[in-house]
Amino acid sequence: MIPAEVMKEVAQQVAVCEKCALHFSRKHAVPGEGPVNAEVMLIGEGPGFYENEQGRPFVGAAGKFLDELLAGCGLQREKVFITNVVKCRPPSNRDPLPEELVACGDYLDRQIDAINPKAIVTLGRFSMARFLPMVKISDVHGQASWVKGRLIVPMYHPAAALHQPSLKSTLERDFKRLPEWIEQSKQSRQSKPEIIPPDELFHAEPPAAPKDDEPTQLSLF
Ligand code: URA
Ligand code: SF4
Repeated sequence: MIPAEVMKEVAQQVAVCEKCALHFSRKHAVPGEGPVNAEVMLIGEGPGFYENEQGRPFVGAAGKFLDELLAGCGLQREKVFITNVVKCRPPSNRDPLPEELVACGDYLDRQIDAINPKAIVTLGRFSMARFLPMVKISDVHGQASWVKGRLIVPMYHPAAALHQPSLKSTLERDFKRLPEWIEQSKQSRQSKPEIIPPDELFHAEPPAAPKDDEPTQLSLF
């Protein structure tokens, strides 16, 4: 199947999916949206109230801030693919349960394979934990890591900045570096046409040249 067909199939399956209990309370499933050839994929947690109403991701207050963050680093929302780790709204916006994350995981995996993005931005800890299960967001936000051949850039969830204003500038700063990570991912893919997924996580080299007194850190975890 070509990528566009995979994306369509996933959206159709998600719309009628009953693989976990979240389907009982959903109004609209939210498969995600964006071009199938997007260079960047953003993965949030799960639909909230407005997303459940409209069937579209990040259309509420957090979405508005996400739009600003994207604009601030020169990325148009229409050019990125935006989705969530669970496609149906957890009641009262509670955290998704482990069994719900597992049940919904296959849809996300198929979307990632079809889009084959240059970089995956995780928004919040549930999305981050899919790729980087052992780390703390406060330690790694804004830093890119290669995980099984994909560049993962964990960011705080935009909604977190609405509750904790000090995170706003952190998110803005982290997003500003996103274009550099994307460029670095493109170059690394060019020089390695056959990507061999690394078994171990390792940090991408920081785009800025390291200072003389700081050794270049390649391997962290
Ligand atoms: N928060 C999320 O994590 N995802 C959405 O789609 C909206 C808000
Ligand atoms: Fe299916 Fe995912 Fe919705 Fe659960 S959250 S019902 S697994 S689409």
